[in-house]
Amino acid sequence: MKSAERVVATQASPSLKDLVLLLFKEGIEQEITPVQVPGLGVYYTLAGFQIQVDNVLKHYRDVFLEVKRYVSLPSCSVCGSTSLRLEISCPSCRQSDLLRVDLVVHYECGFMGGVEDFIRDTQGLLEKCPKCGRSLKRVGIDYGRPGLGFRCQLCGAIFQYPLTILRCDKDHLTTLDKIGVERYPVFTVSKDLQKARPILDLLQRIQAELEHSLNVEVEVLRVVKGRSRMAHIVHALIRSGDKVVAVEILDERSDISDAMGVVSKAVDLGIHFIVILDEEKALELRKVLNPDYFTLIPTRERTIENIRDLLLESVYSFVFEKSV
Ligand SMILES: [Zn+2]
Ligand SMILES: [Zn+2]
Ligand SMILES: [Zn+2]
Repeated sequence: MKSAERVVATQASPSLKDLVLLLFKEGIEQEITPVQVPGLGVYYTLAGFQIQVDNVLKHYRDVFLEVKRYVSLPSCSVCGSTSLRLEISCPSCRQSDLLRVDLVVHYECGFMGGVEDFIRDTQGLLEKCPKCGRSLKRVGIDYGRPGLGFRCQLCGAIFQYPLTILRCDKDHLTTLDKIGVERYPVFTVSKDLQKARPILDLLQRIQAELEHSLNVEVEVLRVVKGRSRMAHIVHALIRSGDKVVAVEILDERSDISDAMGVVSKAVDLGIHFIVILDEEKALELRKVLNPDYFTLIPTRERTIENIRDLLLESVYSFVFEKSV
């Protein structure tokens, strides 16, 4: 999976309809869990793309996801933000210049310090308590080793647990006992994902037809990075030498915003797009997909037989002649 390439898509994500196709192609079986991305918010990873939580919660049924269970992420008690940073400080002076130390406690006088505070003999063994000057002989009887603790470098206090505070991205402070929780669904892919099959099937028929008839290289559902560095999913990317052209399928449910999506892909990628679209929708979508810039193939039924001639002709003219 080209994860590095896809993480770029955190800001403006690819359309969820395209992600469905990619999910279907990759046969995603695992759970889709929310993750906190520091400084950015909560995201789901779908087919390798990080999609903002609101976008997924609004449209998850359209991408054939179903809720399997929930998980809670800690949140700010003031504003509910899940972007929290843990801060630790000294319980005495409340500053936060701390060092980890290996603690020693002298039972008789009650002094506790780091092991390096105690006076040692020539072999490095503990010899005397720095506070009372008495000698230390037997661990567990004269002195104890309770383990690792902290030393405040500013006031010198020694302690086992620092003060903990959580700071949200809006600078609110929350303690652990007051922390809030935000519940998010964990998704799995539903059986309805099968509904994406007809488009994927058509793309595979297109691939076979073009490779066979025109001997061009065709990649189905290829992830490509644009000039804006955003990653796009191209339904079919066709290459022959240095010539590149893309094919995109819009179905009968596609609307103006889907058409706009194709336009922004084309602009950002700088590639010519051949758009196969529903005959009924063609008139409406032509307002956005200007036929001067896009090759439109309207069809009543999306079958390879219906589009073969126009598709071959369009790809041929772009890849081999460059004059339309
Ligand atoms: Zn807050
Ligand atoms: Zn201190
Ligand atoms: Zn002592």
